[in-house]
Amino acid sequence: MTKRVVLIGHPVAHSLSGAMQQAAFDHLEIDARYELWDRLPAQLAETVAELRGEDILGANVTIPHKERVAQLMDRQTDEAHATGAVNTLTREGKKLVGHNTDVAGFKVALDRLVGRQKMPRQAVVLGAGGGARAVVYGLIREGFQRVVVFNRHLHRGEQMVKHFGRSASHMDLRAMPWHESIIEAELAKAKVLVNATSIGLDDDTSPIPAEILTPDLLVLDLIYRQTRLLRDAAAAGCATADGELMLLHQGAAAFTLWTGQPAPIEVMHEALRLARADGVGSAEGEPGIVVPTA
Ligand code: NDP
Repeated sequence: MTKRVVLIGHPVAHSLSGAMQQAAFDHLEIDARYELWDRLPAQLAETVAELRGEDILGANVTIPHKERVAQLMDRQTDEAHATGAVNTLTREGKKLVGHNTDVAGFKVALDRLVGRQKMPRQAVVLGAGGGARAVVYGLIREGFQRVVVFNRHLHRGEQMVKHFGRSASHMDLRAMPWHESIIEAELAKAKVLVNATSIGLDDDTSPIPAEILTPDLLVLDLIYRQTRLLRDAAAAGCATADGELMLLHQGAAAFTLWTGQPAPIEVMHEALRLARADGVGSAEGEPGIVVPTA
């Protein structure tokens, strides 16, 4: 029986995960098909119930469901529990287990961005959704001493900070209102800036004005392409990285959870590059956009 792995999100039509995971299955001759399921939040519970079937090998979860789906799991791994967000599901009999492989993906991306420098201690995170939870958890684990979260809806940022309460008790983790002057003041004290909002995903906008970017910042955008934020940051003299490595490594970790086999990372990377060159997509679960070359 051909097994199925599904991506649940909204929208999902142009996801890069399909190309990457299907290439890995085909390469290792695993009889499995990666399917994209576009589901609205109201359909999430019934969709998760469908995943208990024998033919389901596992699933990925993307924007905007990562937090909500965590509550529908029979069991969660430590990382899923710690973040309160699930991006990968495995099935044990009829039981569903929630994992968070974004945490592992983010670590690879952060390490690459920091390079040989000493790991910084101060960060600004834009966003408080499922992706931001993996980012903040990763920063706590790396030993960051001050992490300031800005989110359009402040209460969601505050909820996230509250969620991390105990694990962040040794450091300064706080949510602040989204005001340019406050972001600017915090950026002046920070070394790392992460965009974990979806601003710039389906148009060419940046979450913050170029003028407040300082040259010594390390800037990571979880969106998988050269966003306006990344172009502004590079122009300001910052080191930058997009979401490619995080996407690749969260996907590799998910592949191993589903199949029990090491992920063919080069095959997956090449499939991502090809999908990107074909204009398949711009970010995890999201449609591609036309980006000005200037
Ligand atoms: P969620 O839906 O959980 O969160 C979306 C976030 O973006 C929230 O903080 C939301 O703020 C903010 N946001 C959305 N639209 C606006 C807007 N118009 N103005 C201001 N803020 C806005 O999504 P995820 O956390 O799962 O994903 C967020 C981004 O990260 C996406 O672009 C996704 O592609 C990317 N991502 C990439 C990964 C990778 O592997 N490279 C992994 C995970 C995520 P509010 O709460 O106020 O609505």
